[in-house]
Amino acid sequence: MAGLAAATRARELGARVVVHEKGDRPGGSMYLSSGVIWRYRDFERFREECGDGDLELQRVVWEGLDDALAWLERLGAPVVTRETGNPLTSGIRFDPTGLTGVLARRAGDMRFGRPLIELPDGVPVILATGGFQGDAELVREQITPEAQSLVLRANPWSAGDGLRLARAAGAAESVGLAEFYGRNLAAAPQIAPTDFVPLAQVYAKHARVENLAGDVYEPRTWSEIDVVQWTARQPGARARYIVPDDALGEPVRERTVGEVIDIARAAGAPVESREGETAIEVVAGITTTLGGIAIDPRGRAADGLWVAGADAGGISTGGWSSALASALVFGKIAAEDALGGL
Ligand SMILES: Cc1cc2nc3c(=O)[nH]c(=O)nc-3n(C[C@H](O)[C@H](O)[C@H](O)COP(=O)(O)OP(=O)(O)OC[C@H]3O[C@@H](n4cnc5c(N)ncnc54)[C@H](O)[C@@H]3O)c2cc1C
Repeated sequence: MAGLAAATRARELGARVVVHEKGDRPGGSMYLSSGVIWRYRDFERFREECGDGDLELQRVVWEGLDDALAWLERLGAPVVTRETGNPLTSGIRFDPTGLTGVLARRAGDMRFGRPLIELPDGVPVILATGGFQGDAELVREQITPEAQSLVLRANPWSAGDGLRLARAAGAAESVGLAEFYGRNLAAAPQIAPTDFVPLAQVYAKHARVENLAGDVYEPRTWSEIDVVQWTARQPGARARYIVPDDALGEPVRERTVGEVIDIARAAGAPVESREGETAIEVVAGITTTLGGIAIDPRGRAADGLWVAGADAGGISTGGWSSALASALVFGKIAAEDALGGL
């Protein structure tokens, strides 16, 4: 998201842009996402939810998002709904395939299979490689000794290249390197990218959550980001949700808990029906690292270097806010600032 937004904005401003894309298609994890780009309705709530994040960066995202969404719409990004389905937040759900197509067409010269491996001299560079969740060694160092057991719920190419390149250029690290956003997934034998949404188990508040040794965890956030972060640190990055029969009818977005469990069972996940309850095994899926490079409110990380998207850390620290939103807002700002200095 951040790289395509930056390239599109820079071209609008008249720049010649080259987009290096490590993958064989555009859009990174944005293309795989649910496409909901959102913010908390109240800034105070954002602060409460993500209290360890940088106040100034949070203000930039919160204040800039509505204009950035209107910009996406003007570019022709296809809107699915103007509702997030969450009373705490406002935003727009875009069709991720259409959104990727619109931005990729406008981003200009895209070079696929051409990762940026060193920073070129003499030209402004915007790094937006999508975080470090794809590098199990970095995840083990920063997040959990169980890194090898996590499911990568993201594109396969975001493996910390931005972090390494920016560090080498003298950029500082943000806070929150041990934090990530993800989802607990039904522990099916095979989990493909098309399963990332349907196999997500987001109803811990209706279940007893325990690790496979029986140690219980009490969920504390609406987004359940704390549950997946806890699961990621348990043996095998696994846990079990034990759901009483009377919770099977509770809604989870457009389904019920029981229907979500049926999908998991059909995919071969360990699901056990017992007297009065159902137990399902889950494995932590890592989507986006939340710590990375420290940036200023114009997206600057070092001389001639801007960082945006999940490579820039310290925005959602302590909780969860839309990574697509910060990628969009800071991608645009980085382009504007980089060109302002030319
Ligand atoms: C199933 C799923 C559902 C999600 N739903 C939502 C949602 O509804 N709302 C929300 O806010 N977030 C959601 N997310 C998270 C969101 O998609 C990501 O956090 C977001 O895409 C991050 O933006 P980004 O620009 O940093 O990274 P990406 O969009 O992943 O883009 C990074 C790009 O950098 C490329 N790259 C990596 N290394 C290099 C290199 N060295 N050189 C060149 N290119 C490189 C990658 O190939 C990739 O194309 C979801 C994610 C998933 C997987």
